Amino acid sequence: MTDDTPIIVWFRRDLRMSDNPALSAAVEGGRPLLPVYVLDPGNGDPWPLGAAGRWWLHHSLSALGRSLAAWGAPLLLCRGSEALVLTELAVATGARAVFCNQVVEPWRQVRDHEVAERLAHCGVGMAFFSGSVLFDPATMAAGRTRPWTVFGPFWRRCLTLPAPNRPLPVPPPPVPAVRSPPAGETLDHWRLVPDRPDGWDGVAATWTPGEAAARDRLAAFLEDAATGYQHERDRVDRPGTSQLSPSLHWGELSVRQVWHAVSATLDGGPGDASRYAFLRQLGWREFSTHLLHHFPELPLRPFDRRFESFPSRRDDHAMAAWQQGRTGYPLVDAAMRQLRVTGWMHNRLRMVAASFLVKHLLLPWQDGAAWFWDGLVDADLANNAAGWQWVAGCGTDAAPFFRIFNPVLQGRRFDPDGTLVRRFVPELAGLSAAHIHEPWRTGRAPTGTAYPPPMVDHRQARERALAAFRSLPAGT
Ligand SMILES: Cc1cc2nc3c(=O)[nH]c(=O)nc-3n(C[C@H](O)[C@H](O)[C@H](O)COP(=O)(O)OP(=O)(O)OC[C@H]3O[C@@H](n4cnc5c(N)ncnc54)[C@H](O)[C@@H]3O)c2cc1C
Repeated sequence: MTDDTPIIVWFRRDLRMSDNPALSAAVEGGRPLLPVYVLDPGNGDPWPLGAAGRWWLHHSLSALGRSLAAWGAPLLLCRGSEALVLTELAVATGARAVFCNQVVEPWRQVRDHEVAERLAHCGVGMAFFSGSVLFDPATMAAGRTRPWTVFGPFWRRCLTLPAPNRPLPVPPPPVPAVRSPPAGETLDHWRLVPDRPDGWDGVAATWTPGEAAARDRLAAFLEDAATGYQHERDRVDRPGTSQLSPSLHWGELSVRQVWHAVSATLDGGPGDASRYAFLRQLGWREFSTHLLHHFPELPLRPFDRRFESFPSRRDDHAMAAWQQGRTGYPLVDAAMRQLRVTGWMHNRLRMVAASFLVKHLLLPWQDGAAWFWDGLVDADLANNAAGWQWVAGCGTDAAPFFRIFNPVLQGRRFDPDGTLVRRFVPELAGLSAAHIHEPWRTGRAPTGTAYPPPMVDHRQARERALAAFRSLPAGT
């Protein structure tokens, strides 16, 4: 007798249909499918979504819902405790299995374990599939006394392992439909996108969430930028990077798909150095995931515990100036406004803006990370925490603290004509390239505006930061 009990496919951070191991495995059984997304606002999530994340989720779920409906198994939207919603769904539909792809964040894995236990009490099995990393963090540390904490050897080790599995195609549509599926809620009803005074137009003009758009972005990157990546990736005034981070975070594309798409273009020619440089950046994503898996406190506590006594200041005025892009340093301000307007920030700018907060202003890196968390469409617990700790000098494999970015020199080097500054700091648009990164040197206030003078002097701020660093207990 064939088993015609449905399988619940629980979508989380895998908002795609291709290379979705849980979805493909569920289809293979030939049983009816019930795709579901559960919004659990009261689950005590230690990292509730930020505003920009909610914007992305709304639109990405909308795109996934359309694709699944066209495919033949509409997405059910449910709200409530995950364990309760899934149990009730199983009871209502007779489902005896829930399939999902693993989310590798430690708090999520604890929660998944609890959900699986609750389901098991009701005779419902839960199957986890792996689809969000290239190299499983638990396996990577197997046989070692300590997890990897230095990127170079970690990545060299990854490259000796068998290549990541080939991505799976979109599975064929499920044949049997779920008989009388329960009614779900609607996205509009959820009101995921928060109101904010400046609205979401800039974000909407920059991004199209969803799997199809993510594939287009990948294709465009392969076509236009991948072969120049090595030299262009630090230029903040040009589209030299892939801008795939939100799609990778939300799982609209799997990292395996990106890995194999890029690897397939390796041709032994001069563009390969760039392609390898790009694959190495995917390695940083793996490394951050590895770190968070093994050091779950990473988002809150400095990996280098000496930094717990770092003499950070509390200064709401300085924090607000940084957040609003009014520090008086054009590159920092352009970075912070790029974040606010587009929901994204170039990697070089993340480093410069984060360094400015921690070293020029002596404000806690955790506060900066929280602001990024709220504002980034790609806000990712592992990458954000590792990125901030790297810049703050307290991470596992961090930039030495004494390397303090000079925002003027960074501007001259990576935005030499001031294109990015002119775009995001229009008050300065009339300045020449010679002055745009140091408007105070014109000797007059920039054209009729209230662009502020530098809130700290670079040299003095640098000395203050170095003194703060010297006050730490000696290294081990
Ligand atoms: C302070 C700080 C905070 C950051 N916060 C986040 C975050 O919340 N979410 C996030 O995805 N990335 C974060 N990063 C890493 C990096 O800045 C972004 O991944 C990158 O800018 C995304 O742009 P892209 O997709 O065009 O990158 P590309 O250069 O095209 O790289 C391709 C992919 O590789 C991964 N990647 C690239 N650089 C890094 C890196 N340094 N660390 C980890 N993964 C990397 C990303 O998934 C990225 O999409 C942060 C970096 C810093 C310094």
